Amino acid sequence: MHGCKPPRYTAPVKASILAVGDELLGTDRLDTNSLALTEVLRRRGVELVSKAVVGDDVVVIAEALDALRERAELLLVTGGLGPTRDDLTREGVARLLGRSVAVDEAEWDRIERGFRKLGRRIPRVNRKQAERVEGAEMLPNRAGVAPGQRIEDAAPSPRGTTYFLFPGVPRELHALLEDALDPWLAARAEDGAGFDQVEMRVACLPESVVEERIAQVYEHFGDGNVSVLARPGEIRLRLRAGGAVEGRAPRLAEMEAAVRDALGDAVFYVGPIEDGVEFEGAVGGLLAARGETVAVAESCTGGLLGQRLTATAGSSAWFVGGYLTYSNRLKKRLLGVPRETLVEYGAVSKPTALAMAAGARERCGSDYGIGITGVAGPGGGSESRPVGTVHIAVAGPADSRSHFEARFPGDRARVRQLSTQFALEMLRRMLLSGEGPADALPWAAPSRMGPP
Ligand code: ATP
Repeated sequence: MHGCKPPRYTAPVKASILAVGDELLGTDRLDTNSLALTEVLRRRGVELVSKAVVGDDVVVIAEALDALRERAELLLVTGGLGPTRDDLTREGVARLLGRSVAVDEAEWDRIERGFRKLGRRIPRVNRKQAERVEGAEMLPNRAGVAPGQRIEDAAPSPRGTTYFLFPGVPRELHALLEDALDPWLAARAEDGAGFDQVEMRVACLPESVVEERIAQVYEHFGDGNVSVLARPGEIRLRLRAGGAVEGRAPRLAEMEAAVRDALGDAVFYVGPIEDGVEFEGAVGGLLAARGETVAVAESCTGGLLGQRLTATAGSSAWFVGGYLTYSNRLKKRLLGVPRETLVEYGAVSKPTALAMAAGARERCGSDYGIGITGVAGPGGGSESRPVGTVHIAVAGPADSRSHFEARFPGDRARVRQLSTQFALEMLRRMLLSGEGPADALPWAAPSRMGPP
């Protein structure tokens, strides 16, 4: 065992991240691992003071760590623990700390056994993954081969530094964050460090509208405790409560109630950030709870809505199928859209969208049908139907119908994505209210739909 004194602190207050890998210096691969690390630090109230990216070079790794340890007592390193010659993180740390690196035979045994269980022989080259920096504690990796490592060092005196080495493969990193880093930080956190948080998700409201409606929540709870993340057609609000642990849950509940007051049933999800329900899953959940089903008829979205719905586990309980009717011929043949409707109003029109929705519903024998037809661009627009014009319709039981004409901003991909998003929201509204007068929706008038 290396003869170093344990660090004096109980809770690290400052951390730095080093991402290792030549590929991260190129144009193909972005360092996303540091985002996952940052989230864990934020949750535990540890301040991140710097992030750095270096290539696979022992000297550069050692020098980068040397600089980072001056300003932080917790150094988190990701990447470079693999079996190949350019995986040099262990060597870089050992060089900095003046320690050795050697194969840990117990670890190698464990790796070999794991491979044997899968009926495979392990290549000799993998012995490198059982190498341990002198004095390091091995951190089991349930998602891969190379374990992580934790190393305590007395330098710089007097506070010392803790090093965590994590694999670069994102899935493996996430497993180790959960199994090793988070519990380690939790055990050291002083009472009152860090915070609890909850996420609320809202679809199809512009960010400016959400901001306006929750202005009083900011005022009341402090704007540092609410953050807004916008993505096309969806807003995610993160609510945070810090301070004494026992006060956090009640405060989060209070904040959540205030946001609900402000946004009403536009909120489709409240819960943890990780493994949260996606929008299509939330809509599917509503259908499942009522024992009802939906079918789709898609034109400009080319199956994207069906793709989203079927990406949800368990969707066979409430999604029956649908039609991809790009041409007028198929709209007539497969969905029964009347020829006169297409001639008189055109393929991109309210009557056509309604006929598509009704056709999908009837012919699939589902409770609800969705029809989408529009001009996704970049070509095909006209003065009366510019690019981004999309007609969306939902047909439901007892002749309930809803229609929305959108003028979506953005390129083809965005128009298609927003079309599916709004279609899902229309279905959701119909499920919540029993019927779906589109005029009651806050985004019914296209002119009010600002750029998301
Ligand atoms: P393992 O020991 O499991 O092989 P490793 O520690 O050797 O992992 P690398 O070889 O550096 O990891 O990277 C493995 C994969 O993970 C590569 O596809 C790489 O692009 C990806 N990766 C590495 N670092 C990062 C990062 N910081 N952010 C996102 N992806 C990363």
